[in-house]
Amino acid sequence: MKAIVKKEPGKGFSLEEVEIPEIKEPNDVKVKVLNASICGTDLHIWKWDEWSQQRIKTPQIDGHEFVGEVVEVGPMVKGLKPGDIVAAETHIPCGVCKQCKTGKMHICKNMQILGVDRDGVFAEYVVVPEIVLWKLDPSIPREFASVMEPLGNAIHTATAVDLRGKTVLITGAGPIGVMAVQVAKVSGAATIIVSEPSEYRMNMAKEMGADYIINPLEENLVEEVMKLTNDDGADVLLEMSGNPNALNQGINALTNGGDAVILGVFPTNPVPFEMNTAVFKGINIHCITGRKMFETWQIASEWLRTKKLDLSKVITHVLPMEEFEKGFEIMNSKKSGKIILKISE
Ligand code: NAD
Ligand code: ZN
Repeated sequence: MKAIVKKEPGKGFSLEEVEIPEIKEPNDVKVKVLNASICGTDLHIWKWDEWSQQRIKTPQIDGHEFVGEVVEVGPMVKGLKPGDIVAAETHIPCGVCKQCKTGKMHICKNMQILGVDRDGVFAEYVVVPEIVLWKLDPSIPREFASVMEPLGNAIHTATAVDLRGKTVLITGAGPIGVMAVQVAKVSGAATIIVSEPSEYRMNMAKEMGADYIINPLEENLVEEVMKLTNDDGADVLLEMSGNPNALNQGINALTNGGDAVILGVFPTNPVPFEMNTAVFKGINIHCITGRKMFETWQIASEWLRTKKLDLSKVITHVLPMEEFEKGFEIMNSKKSGKIILKISE
């Protein structure tokens, strides 16, 4: 089969002919990949940055966001059959640690990540355990189904607190931030303010329904939010940029007792953070990892099936698998939303 592979340490990927993976465990499922999408993590691996050099073992097939069709199931698989259309949670939980056993599989202590710790989905076939597969209503458009994993990040973050009637500030309108605009709307937010420096992405946020869009490099974000809220501040911050300035501006732009829900991953650890401001304002801080298994998936699929969400403005490029290099270049330019690779029909 064809696969996009990191053959050896270094920048880039190559399109290779590799063996079709086989079912090994009784609960394994073999899936024909239809569409896959490029994530920020794939871009890190493509660039071969420090994190990837430490984490990725070559040779490895990249990719983790996808929609596919079940073609074969192991003898213990109970809920799926060939022909079913599925998307997958990319965090493969162990199922037996304390977190897994107490309803927190998304923060499993022994988590394996698809396309990071094992072969991924930029290939014609992938084998994964049944537990991570989520069966989809076939009416959900394939392009939307392919990006349900990052959509799940937006949903997990935006549903961590009650948004009904609230003023929500979203810092960072990357693919996840712009999806969060729509999710916040559907969740009942009254006003959505977006902070984003890239013009391309400011436009995407507008198309997705943001009420106000502020360029934090040209305007004073905190002052602008105060103007829009009668000097009170936003009720909720959804941090989706991974930029420490955005995080600190967000904390300063919140009303006292507001909620800061943080998804962004920051370039340094520790992160320079105005902790005292957060303490004196009595801010509630919520940190988000991945997607809730599988509450987030339930919400994502029902909002897609009932057309409450329309992701057509987030999916800016659809390319054949062979043009993956172009996909990564576009993704790297930040002049894109989600980029989809068509793997099979
Ligand atoms: P992205 O990098 O494509 O988007 C981030 C956006 O933030 C960009 O459009 C950028 O222009 C904007 N930005 C940069 N500086 C800013 C500033 N000072 N103020 C406002 N905006 C600013 O990322 P994405 O794929 O949309 O993901 C969003 C964030 O969530 C990233 O930090 C990513 O690493 C993180 N993430 C976390 C998890 C998790 O499980 N916690 C999962 C997926 C992604
Ligand atoms: Zn576990």
